[in-house]
Amino acid sequence: MAEIDIYAGLKKYFGFTRFKGLQEEVIKSILDGKNTFVVMPTGGGKSLCYQLPALMQDGTAIIVSPLIALMKNQVDALRALSSEEGVAHVLNSSLNKTEVKRVKSDIASGITKLLYVAPESLTKEEYVDFLQTQKISFMAIDEAHCISEWGHDFRPEYRNLKNIIQRIGDNIPIIGLTATATPKVQEDILKNLGMPDANTFKASFNRPNLYYEIRPKTKSVDADIIRFVKQNEGKSGIIYCLSRKRVEELAQALQVNGIKAVPYHAGLDGKTRVKHQDMFLMEDVDVVVATIAFGMGIDKPDVRFVIHNDIPKSIESYYQETGRAGRDGGEGHCLAFYSYKDIEKLEKFMSGKPVAEQEIGHALLQEVVGFAETSMSRRKFILHYFGEEFDNETGEGGMMDDNMRFPKKKHEAKTEAAL
Ligand code: ADP
Ligand code: MG
Repeated sequence: MAEIDIYAGLKKYFGFTRFKGLQEEVIKSILDGKNTFVVMPTGGGKSLCYQLPALMQDGTAIIVSPLIALMKNQVDALRALSSEEGVAHVLNSSLNKTEVKRVKSDIASGITKLLYVAPESLTKEEYVDFLQTQKISFMAIDEAHCISEWGHDFRPEYRNLKNIIQRIGDNIPIIGLTATATPKVQEDILKNLGMPDANTFKASFNRPNLYYEIRPKTKSVDADIIRFVKQNEGKSGIIYCLSRKRVEELAQALQVNGIKAVPYHAGLDGKTRVKHQDMFLMEDVDVVVATIAFGMGIDKPDVRFVIHNDIPKSIESYYQETGRAGRDGGEGHCLAFYSYKDIEKLEKFMSGKPVAEQEIGHALLQEVVGFAETSMSRRKFILHYFGEEFDNETGEGGMMDDNMRFPKKKHEAKTEAAL
């Protein structure tokens, strides 16, 4: 019975005929009212895991999500799928009184199936008091790694969620979802959400269509990037830089070279950011040069390359950011430029932070060094880091990295190490 229903729902609401990966099992667990923990890589289809059961159940599901852009994206998509505009709402501080009233009345009348909130909005007494009186189907905590200091995006507001959920209702099922696979982060999530017994669904983190490549970063990095982008003309790509200044500089260098590129970072005003993001989504430009402020939850399936002008501060960040390439299953080239000097820079950034944080940061960085300098399969390295065994002979995408495709001869590797 339930099976027929969820397939009908999948078709009706999303127009899909098949579930991706573990979606079906996850959805059944949620419909069973169980606490559920979902670990799936970026692009794995986590949103549908809570969207479909929310649409198919009575009451409103509350979706906690860290970024307004991400929520807006999802609400727009849900509204496009449904004939009812009130099916999904965002509740945040940017709404005026009339808008808040509309949201509340849509929830009260049962029209609203998904309510997206930022964790800080959820601390507002007024909202908690209101939600207490409503029928809540479940609470989904998206990007649940934000709860953990070992995650790549710790947000203290996430620490308070369990409390608030309990205040909203006693027996509300909790769904945690993340794309971060490290065992430490997972432990933290389950502990903080108070659900050690959650039904846990963990997908493989292998992204067989992504090609991983690390190149030494030299003075000619601009020319290297421009050459790469020109070789991939007309394809969509993201270039990540550490600093806003570098974003601006590089975006300009690309533009001067006839490449349609826009900058994106938190120093730009909101209007410009939205405009540049939309230009990228609508393919008015091919390349967005960005700080890590860009991309969380951005659903552009055909990003063909992700370039790291600077090596990220952890393997998780690298995996998350490169994961924005090839979400449609097509080609995705992940090219990172690495210099040990950049590691030293990242170490220096941390020096003002509390000791505990520095220790975590240092440990994460050492893994990045290992990854960048390894001569073994990059894919195997990443998957091992996430607690997954990978066999390059039999595993999908086993040859899809620089070290596997162009193995260094032993003496070359030695010479390089001696330098
Ligand atoms: P995640 O949050 O895990 O990174 P998303 O929820 O953003 O992933 O989904 C990634 C993409 O997969 C989206 O474009 C979505 O429409 C698509 N998708 C999800 N489930 C299915 C499915 N069952 N069949 C086909 N495409 C799907
Ligand atoms: Mg997601």
